[in-house]
Amino acid sequence: MNQSHAFVAHKFGGSSMRDAERIAQVAAILAARPDERQVVVVSAMQGVTDALIDLANSAAARSKQWREALSHLRERHLAAALALLGARAETTVEWLEQEFADLAEVLHALALLGTPSREALDLVQGLGEVWSSRLLAEHFLVRGDGAVWCDAREVLRVRAEELGVMVDWAQSQAQFDTFRARQPSARYVVTGFVARDGEGRATTLGRNGSDYSGAIFGALAEAAEVHIWTDVDGVYSADPRAVPEAVLIPELSYHEACELAYFGAKVIHPQTMAPAIERNI
Ligand code: ADP
Ligand code: ASP
Ligand code: MG
Repeated sequence: MNQSHAFVAHKFGGSSMRDAERIAQVAAILAARPDERQVVVVSAMQGVTDALIDLANSAAARSKQWREALSHLRERHLAAALALLGARAETTVEWLEQEFADLAEVLHALALLGTPSREALDLVQGLGEVWSSRLLAEHFLVRGDGAVWCDAREVLRVRAEELGVMVDWAQSQAQFDTFRARQPSARYVVTGFVARDGEGRATTLGRNGSDYSGAIFGALAEAAEVHIWTDVDGVYSADPRAVPEAVLIPELSYHEACELAYFGAKVIHPQTMAPAIERNI
């Protein structure tokens, strides 16, 4: 990979990050594109965000099941770490164990309080992206390919407004530039979905928000293109799962893509287009 090449942003969702095999495939797809610098934004492993939200709610409801559900989630991530990192898994396994120990404490506190606070829910539901992105970044290193892990909570500043989560571009750009200056790389693997608010608390961009993260980090890296990889061949005239006769749309204007997303097509998060339109990505 050449430092002089332009950045291309790639976003891989939960379907592409489902298990170790899929994560390895993501790395292989990206490594096969040597003529670009990459900012790679990823979602949690499929189903993990739902599982984390359920965990927070069931702990707060003092249901007995949360410890078992937590240990299932922990095992899933440890198994993925071992499969992806083999003999070099030790540090990541230790890190994951600490992450899950911290999460257990948060959930225990929720059980004592008997209510899931907004702040706790925001923190907990974004952890899947933190884990999956770190696994992918470490897997690149095991393959002998360069990558630097970027926890978006250290870069991205946002505020919740009536129309959705808005980016503090000046602060986010300054933090991303500082991050890159400290850790220069031709490939950054970034946590989708998560950010920090003006008070420094962990927050998220809303369900399905990793698409938006992909566009935001594309803009921050001054990428010419944002690629959203998923489990369908492209944007269809309707959800192909619900409407088998839906047809693939070869090309869409920004405006058409916005409308589709706005009216609920899960294939793109509604705010994804804004950074792309502003910067002609
Ligand atoms: P990812 O995990 O990659 O983010 P999502 O499940 O969030 O994937 O989004 C992809 C899904 O969006 C597809 O599997 C499809 O069922 C659904 N979808 C809804 N509307 C559309 C559409 N108009 N075109 C394509 N896919 C759509
Ligand atoms: N993991 C988050 C969700 O399930 C964000 C995303 O996948 O885009 O909503
Ligand atoms: Mg999605």
